[in-house]
Amino acid sequence: MGDVRVVGLEDLLSGRVKLHMLDELVGAREATRLRRKYLEQQAGIELSQLDVDLPYEGVVGRNCENTIGGVTIPLGVAGPLPIEGEHFRGSTYVPLATTEGALVATVNRGAAAIRSSGAVKVRVLDDKMTRAPVLETPGVEWSFRLTKWVEQNFQLLREAFRSATNHGDLRGIKPFVAGKFVFLRMEATTGDAMGMNMVTKAAERVVEEVVSRLDWVKHVSLSGNLCTDKKPAAVNWVMGRGKTVSAEAVIKRDVVGSVLKTTPEAVMKVVSAKLYVGSALAGALGGFNAHVANVIAAVFIATGQDLAQVVESSESITYADITPAGDLYFSLTIPSLEVGTVGGGTWLPAQRAALSIMGVAGPGDPPGTNARKFAEVVAAAALAGELSLTSALSAHHLVKAHDRLGRGRR
Ligand code: NAP
Repeated sequence: MGDVRVVGLEDLLSGRVKLHMLDELVGAREATRLRRKYLEQQAGIELSQLDVDLPYEGVVGRNCENTIGGVTIPLGVAGPLPIEGEHFRGSTYVPLATTEGALVATVNRGAAAIRSSGAVKVRVLDDKMTRAPVLETPGVEWSFRLTKWVEQNFQLLREAFRSATNHGDLRGIKPFVAGKFVFLRMEATTGDAMGMNMVTKAAERVVEEVVSRLDWVKHVSLSGNLCTDKKPAAVNWVMGRGKTVSAEAVIKRDVVGSVLKTTPEAVMKVVSAKLYVGSALAGALGGFNAHVANVIAAVFIATGQDLAQVVESSESITYADITPAGDLYFSLTIPSLEVGTVGGGTWLPAQRAALSIMGVAGPGDPPGTNARKFAEVVAAAALAGELSLTSALSAHHLVKAHDRLGRGRR
């Protein structure tokens, strides 16, 4: 039989086997246990709290490498939240995974005010994932020539893109030129997936097509940062990325008083002084909101989204006004909400269960409808959070609420 032997902790400690080699040798579950034991030995600490039951065989090669276990995060729900979207119509609880006390309570309070007055109206205005490879030409006149060639050969490039995916489709290519560099910002629909892997793979086919036909074009990098993924950037703020979503609600004056303990005028004052004047003075980019990142991060953790995309997904603008009847008009617009109901971490059992609370787990019929439904729910939940926090600030209740809910009993 030759030199077959079971791999054990001593092989890791002796250096004969490297941590990353374990999955192939003993399977992902046992590899996870052994790596944890190895760390325990090395650091002289006990790590049994990380022994979380996950489908490691699926996680490794898809979601995480060198696994040693999992980290659990408390999960709460806010709602029910009534939503009148194009895709989502009805009422839902929203799962929020967080360690920030008062966050779920504040979204819950916003949802209560919305419920007492009607519903959040919400629409997905645009839907596209983007990838912008950077190419190099001999100089600016060649760069200009390339932009014209891309425009004239769009159908050819679209076919190349579609050869890599069944659910993605190239909608357009926006070229940006800087001297000898050309950035092709590709915009694509991605069905129910957030789409970053899908579009990256398909963008590579497009680049291969361009380079194979124009021998004066060089491929520099598949991502040229004009995408822009996981970094604050004006291009997303202005042109959108993922789902561009706008939501609004009208809260009756008496509900603003009874549930939110404030007045429409006081909320409006906070919104203009803090979210516009304060944010303008701070030089904010997409930061014209109170705490949208709180809700986006909590929903992203709960549902297996790409957490680093909280950066651009939370850039948004909150608005408040008084209706002719004296009620509070409140809106939230998010230009780059990057969400999916398939792909990434959405298949993990807990994350899938969280998506199923909103009825949006897995693929939609037709493809794309579940992700859009989900985007409508996320925007509505973020609006509820904005409504509650700006109200609390206007009534000077913020510290009181955090003291009661966020400081805990230690
Ligand atoms: P993915 O899991 O890579 O791709 C989605 C898969 O689901 C595709 O194979 C797609 O098939 C399939 N699919 C089945 N039903 C679908 C439906 N109804 N709608 C859409 N797709 C459907 O997920 P992704 O959203 O493209 O990428 C997300 C992952 O990319 C995350 O893990 C994220 O962390 C990571 N990421 C990657 C990059 C990068 O540069 N590569 C950057 C940022 C993040 P078809 O393709 O055949 O249609």
